[in-house]
Amino acid sequence: MNKYDVVIVGGGTAGCAAAYTAGKLGLKTLLIEKNIHLGGTITSGLVIPVMKSGNNQINTEFKNALIDECHRLGGQTTYMGNPAWFNPEITKIALDNLMKRANVELFFDTNILGIKIEDNKIKRIKITKEILSAYNDELDIPQKELSVSVGARYVIDATGNCVVGKICNCNFLEKPDEFQPVTLRFMMGGIDLKVFSDWLQDYDKDRNVTTVEHIDGYIHLSTAYTWDKDKKWALAPLFKDAVKKGILNKYDTNYFQIFTVPGMPDTIAFNCPRIIDYRNSLEVKSISKALMLARQNIYRYLQFCRIYFPGFENAYISNIADMLGVRVSRRIKGKYIYTIDDLTSGKTFEHPVVVSNYPVDVHSNKRGKSTLKTTLKDYQLPIESLMSDDIDNLFVAGRCLSADFMAQGALRVQGSCFSMGEGVSKYIANLLA
Ligand SMILES: Cc1cc2nc3c(=O)[nH]c(=O)nc-3n(C[C@H](O)[C@H](O)[C@H](O)COP(=O)(O)OP(=O)(O)OC[C@H]3O[C@@H](n4cnc5c(N)ncnc54)[C@H](O)[C@@H]3O)c2cc1C
Repeated sequence: MNKYDVVIVGGGTAGCAAAYTAGKLGLKTLLIEKNIHLGGTITSGLVIPVMKSGNNQINTEFKNALIDECHRLGGQTTYMGNPAWFNPEITKIALDNLMKRANVELFFDTNILGIKIEDNKIKRIKITKEILSAYNDELDIPQKELSVSVGARYVIDATGNCVVGKICNCNFLEKPDEFQPVTLRFMMGGIDLKVFSDWLQDYDKDRNVTTVEHIDGYIHLSTAYTWDKDKKWALAPLFKDAVKKGILNKYDTNYFQIFTVPGMPDTIAFNCPRIIDYRNSLEVKSISKALMLARQNIYRYLQFCRIYFPGFENAYISNIADMLGVRVSRRIKGKYIYTIDDLTSGKTFEHPVVVSNYPVDVHSNKRGKSTLKTTLKDYQLPIESLMSDDIDNLFVAGRCLSADFMAQGALRVQGSCFSMGEGVSKYIANLLA
């Protein structure tokens, strides 16, 4: 049986940062990913860009390495002072390159079949040994011949949904009434960005939420619309008209946000549709319903954009995310439960892994009920919020951290997830030194 210093389950936002850092620090590192590429929410979920989280962030070496590698490959730009504006397809290649450079061993398309715990520590993880498909004519082989075990001194659960913690019967913090809508992101190609950006700048003269920049000969832009009250969005009359004419339904207007994508000069990425008619991010039935509703909504957006936005006459759907965008689901009970009071008071800790000023950003399924609250000072997250309270050698990184619902709403962004992954691996390297 192969034994690793650290096994990271989940090669997404936080997991890649953890694996890269562990490998760079000389730890024997295995990264297990259920998909066939890295990046998680960034690539499978098409969630771009990485939001800015202030000037005092710590544990940023991975983020900087990713910026450099995406830049080298032509999939990065610096927009409105934010250098973490990525192309999700190029990011898949960049992440492969970074893992190779850090000597991380990678298992793609791999599922966890079981976990062996001894003396309150994970000893072995049983994983799939070969890829099974409908075309495999040996499906009657005994289960043990289809699996292999890997040994781990430390395990990092970076699965977003805290899958390892669940298999280990850990305690969790989530409550049924704590809920944020999910979003299935997508991209449209075939857009004349010059025509669209000229129209948009003229149409949204107040530039409430619209920005446009010309960078290295390419047009980049961003704009948004929501149905939340007290907001005067320039695009609002277009949405209202489309609802009146039956091109959109009224729920389609709850959130609409678009960004250009570096290296894709005729493409726009959509941070919508946000699905409000659904409740549980962990339940198959609920998620399946959300996915079906979302794809219908995406098709309506295509008709809407073609009719109302100059430059979109020949637009087409070029990509629909193959992962539902989940803002919050399972959160582990850690050695420290980080609270919204810790965040708003800017409480400091002995071993911080994250420093950020990203706002508390909690989406609601009700009109006017979303929260976007800027913090007055930087806040810190301690390493103890990434340590399982139940299993001695289990850490988490990413959105499944040990925090209350409102605090998670600020810490879930990619910049903080990168810092968590990097911070955990540095901590483990110190334990092993
Ligand atoms: C719609 C939406 C919009 C957002 N917008 C922004 C934004 O603009 N900017 C920003 O900074 N943040 C944004 N966020 C927040 C941020 O993108 C996520 O919270 C963050 O990326 C989560 O990172 P993670 O590492 O916890 O999970 P992920 O990046 O999702 O990684 C989890 C990984 O684990 C893998 N996995 C899951 N289960 C298993 C298993 N059993 N075995 C092996 N692998 C497994 C998955 O395939 C995936 O690769 C947004 C989130 C959403 C949902």
